[in-house]
Amino acid sequence: MEKIYKREPDPQWRLRTDNKSYQALHYWVKKHLGKPQICWCCGSKDLPPNRYHWANVSGQYRQKLWDWVRLCNACHSAFDR
Ligand SMILES: [Zn+2]
Repeated sequence: MEKIYKREPDPQWRLRTDNKSYQALHYWVKKHLGKPQICWCCGSKDLPPNRYHWANVSGQYRQKLWDWVRLCNACHSAFDR
């Protein structure tokens, strides 16, 4: 009888790939837009630089500059929810 070879899907594969492209995209955003220093939402700019993040507007992580906004820690976590 012929054996049908079925590859076991690697559950980590997609996660790894997504994570890698996510990091690459963030690198691309930083390269083109610089480090965020002011919050687009609440306007705060007195926080330490590492408190500002790039947030994706559409949630589709497009490689478009308009799809990214600067948000502080607090606004970012509120935005993601
Ligand atoms: Zn804010």
